[in-house]
Amino acid sequence: MITSHELRKKFLDFFLSKNHAIIPSASLIPENDPTALFINSGMHPLVPYLLGEKHPKGTMLTDVQKCVRTVDIDEVGDATHLTFFEMLGNWSLGSYFKKEAIEWSFEFLTSYRWLNVPLSRLAVSVYKGDDLVPKDEESARIWKSMGIVEERIAYLGKEDNWWGPAGKTGPCGPDTEMFYWVQNDTPPPVKFDPSDKRWMEIWNDVFMQYNKDQSGNFSEMPQKNVDTGIGLERTLVVLNGLNNVYETDLFIPLFQKINGLKRADAVSAEAEMRAMRIIADHTRAAVFIIGDQRGVTPSNVDQGYILRRLIRRAVRQARLLEIPMDIGITSEVGSRVIDLMQSAYPELGRGREKILGELTKEEQKFEKTLEKGLKELKKFFAKNETPQSADSSRQKVDSSKAFFIFQSFGFPLEMIQEEVLAHRMYIDEQEFKGEFEKHQGLSRQGAEGKFSGGLADHSTATTRLHTATHLLHQALRDVLGDHVAQKGSNITEKRLRFDFSHPEKMTEDQKARVSAIVNGKIRARLPVKIQEMSVEDSQKSGAIGLFEHKYNDRVSVYFVGDYSKEVCGGPHVKNTSELAENGVFKIIKEEGVSAGVRRIKAMLEHF
Ligand code: ATP
Ligand code: MG
Repeated sequence: MITSHELRKKFLDFFLSKNHAIIPSASLIPENDPTALFINSGMHPLVPYLLGEKHPKGTMLTDVQKCVRTVDIDEVGDATHLTFFEMLGNWSLGSYFKKEAIEWSFEFLTSYRWLNVPLSRLAVSVYKGDDLVPKDEESARIWKSMGIVEERIAYLGKEDNWWGPAGKTGPCGPDTEMFYWVQNDTPPPVKFDPSDKRWMEIWNDVFMQYNKDQSGNFSEMPQKNVDTGIGLERTLVVLNGLNNVYETDLFIPLFQKINGLKRADAVSAEAEMRAMRIIADHTRAAVFIIGDQRGVTPSNVDQGYILRRLIRRAVRQARLLEIPMDIGITSEVGSRVIDLMQSAYPELGRGREKILGELTKEEQKFEKTLEKGLKELKKFFAKNETPQSADSSRQKVDSSKAFFIFQSFGFPLEMIQEEVLAHRMYIDEQEFKGEFEKHQGLSRQGAEGKFSGGLADHSTATTRLHTATHLLHQALRDVLGDHVAQKGSNITEKRLRFDFSHPEKMTEDQKARVSAIVNGKIRARLPVKIQEMSVEDSQKSGAIGLFEHKYNDRVSVYFVGDYSKEVCGGPHVKNTSELAENGVFKIIKEEGVSAGVRRIKAMLEHF
């Protein structure tokens, strides 16, 4: 069994032995990047140096970086996705390149002095090349010289084995990924099939070899960089033959704590497992965010807002497990997190009092909100409850009442629902949504009058997503480049779908940037203005979205602040702040639909 402490230490020791300088984890809060709320990878804080700035510690670096990925929050509860995790990495800033990078990855994985992974359980993928950039023969050759046989090398395209550029232009290049056969009882097949999930990706070496210019051409860069990243928790899972990240030593004590506090059989085994995982994950993330060297406290904006949601989501799951609120679940579990992690992250030990204090304060605030809402519900039930002796049919709750409680006390709908069910009643969700929309409609109508038409479905949620689509379109152009053009769009009350031209799969980093930009524009409370003009004038104004109009049409251009200008039939909100009422903008899926066309599904959601 290799522990988290051993793996961190082995990794750093190994690269130290190869003359790398160990650098401390950067703060979780980005210093020079207004487009992201949190650092989401080892590479993220090093971007300025990868772009050519000199690093004070030299040209060969290694570290263990704290990461937060809010985009993965809905995945939490599965076997491998956490909101907070640690990424091990090594970098060459214009120093070594493919040969050393691959040889060292190989040595660290397979040498008996280090991880001692049997060669028979390893496979790799390498960039296969396209019209613009040749196949990465060099990497394949180096792997073979290490003993990786041809059958264990998969050649894949840009969607799998390519990185960057982070902006429209700049450094980019092929990567090579390492896979580990995780099945303990079945030997790996000779031929590597990357679509077989029993081959788990464990490490990725990125080679920043090319510069992409304005016209989309790739030229060899004078300074070539290496960036590698390997997730600590997942690597512990595979090396130890475990089933999920919660079985690692990073989580066992947290689970013991939660186990001791929960009421047995409060919910189904499956719901219980999920709840425990969410409590453990979210509390860990909250501890690291508060205890960070640039730590934040719960609030209604930016990082503080995410932190608030993390804590409240954890508390909610604790209620499902019938853990009494006066226990203060997040500070109880948080205290264990600090015990476990303070040797690797001394800032947590130093900040213990502050961290636990903030967790407790936020829990109490949430508790007050809940109390008020519950009291109101109780009054309501006292008047309406069906006697227990009655038959099994449940009584319907008046939706406008339920909405009133939701509205006045900020009481989460799912919790109202739980209470209602416990009192042998039910809420008609459709009706409740109707109330919700009626309210939204009323508060908006006076301000903005009539819509100008264009969309079939004008419900508030749809309108908001429509405006979000404009923000998304512009943000995609900012992050990926001006080649991004709309190829299709479909909006329902729940989600938007946006098809656009772009040749490759978006990276995690690009998705995070796009979401961060859209959320930034929502928080910036930008006014939305409409102006009618000729097609010619709209072109002059730089508006996008002209594709389906004839030249002498008159068109409406929607201006979102001075951020987005787009020809469109509407309707749109009056101010981007309205979007926040439906929650935070989240990309839920990014996929290819045809050659050169990608599809994003996104929603506005309170999480
Ligand atoms: P996935 O597709 O599973 O979400 P990814 O492609 O987003 O993974 P990368 O962006 O390549 O992952 O990040 C590098 C490594 O960081 C991954 O191989 C994994 O070990 C780790 N990692 C990424 N996201 C998470 C997460 N949410 N929780 C834990 N580890 C993660
Ligand atoms: Mg991911």
